[in-house]
Amino acid sequence: MKTVIMAGGRGTRISSVASDIPKPMIKIEGRPVLEHEIESLREQGFKDIIISVSHLGNIIMDYFGDGTGVSPATGKPFGVHISYYFEKEPLGNAGALFKIRDQLTEDFLLLNADAVFDVDFRRFVQFHREKGGLVTIFTHANDHPYDSGLVFLDENQCVMKWSAKEDVRPEYYKNVVNAGLHVVSPEVLKCDIETPKIDLDRQLLKPLAGTGKLFAYDSPEYVKDMGTPDRYYQVCQDFKTGIVQQKNLRNKQKAVFLDRDGTLNRYVGFLRNIEQFELLPGAAEAVRAINNSGYLAIVVTNQPVIARGEVSIPELEQIHNKMETLLGEGGAFLDAVYYCPHHPDKGFPGERAEFKIQCSCRKPKPGMLLKAAEDFNIDLSQSWMVGDSESDILAGKAAGCRTALIGTAEYTQDKTVESLLDFADSCLTNQ
Ligand SMILES: [Zn+2]
Repeated sequence: MKTVIMAGGRGTRISSVASDIPKPMIKIEGRPVLEHEIESLREQGFKDIIISVSHLGNIIMDYFGDGTGVSPATGKPFGVHISYYFEKEPLGNAGALFKIRDQLTEDFLLLNADAVFDVDFRRFVQFHREKGGLVTIFTHANDHPYDSGLVFLDENQCVMKWSAKEDVRPEYYKNVVNAGLHVVSPEVLKCDIETPKIDLDRQLLKPLAGTGKLFAYDSPEYVKDMGTPDRYYQVCQDFKTGIVQQKNLRNKQKAVFLDRDGTLNRYVGFLRNIEQFELLPGAAEAVRAINNSGYLAIVVTNQPVIARGEVSIPELEQIHNKMETLLGEGGAFLDAVYYCPHHPDKGFPGERAEFKIQCSCRKPKPGMLLKAAEDFNIDLSQSWMVGDSESDILAGKAAGCRTALIGTAEYTQDKTVESLLDFADSCLTNQ
């Protein structure tokens, strides 16, 4: 499979870090960002690379050549084959694709070099093939969803709506942000767009929303825009500590499993109404610390209100949208949310019989943690379960996790903490 890397970005906002080199050539740990990315692609068997360059592109071409030489930084072979498309006139970020479309006869990877990433591309491509769409975009939850482009998905991960930064969005939304990595069918390029510049998102992808041909592969792997000096320094730090590579799903992950009610949001008994949902003080700060630590942040919550017929699944999803929106406003995000809709006891008015079962996911059973471990390649023995009740501790122990109780009771937990923030401050180590 070919890989097209869009490396023509000008990076004006990061010019205080480096003004005379193109953004993909900014160094991290002594090597250009683009070199780290090409190395990751090569390791995964993606060796046929086309790079579109423009502003200062000769610096990129001089450094990498045709990919058969050695790295000036390490003296080791790049081990790939690279060709270039040089944009003399700015064509927008998708214009070059139309210029090279004769070379793109099969599905290809399309990557934006403005972001730093380390992703299991085989898994991404496999998802694309299973869904059978024209384009699959890589999405994730990020720490600034309020000023990022969002997508809205159906239960099959099909993109129903595309919301650019400037579009009006609902009050509460799920944190699903387009990360700038794609698997694309050449079919998409079989159209003629008359404008001289072509914007990938607005002119090619957004029109596919709602057609059933655009899917989202949502993953907690490391993809971060380094468009501002602050973000650049954060990326450098994450490279140094190994977080960038560690979060590739080829590697075993570690997670903090979070209970919801009483851990993230104020406990109100059965939470039936979205107005009752209120984050606890320090919750966003704590989740932000988990996000920065290299652990995945994954909610696992019992919601028997579904089985009881008191909250519908769309209503529950809207409550979770509020949770994600409020956390996002605090610079924090969840990598996934799992809920158990079941309850074992039958015979109440209004209940939904299909959820009145003995399931394997209702805590204290560990089903949700085991499912997450399968979905995200998690090493449960390196993970934590944090909650405020005995069922949280028992579920964590049954899954083989370390456990932390928020409160004062004794349920044989490993740690006892005052709050989620106390947990983040005292139990997380970056190793
Ligand atoms: Zn269940």
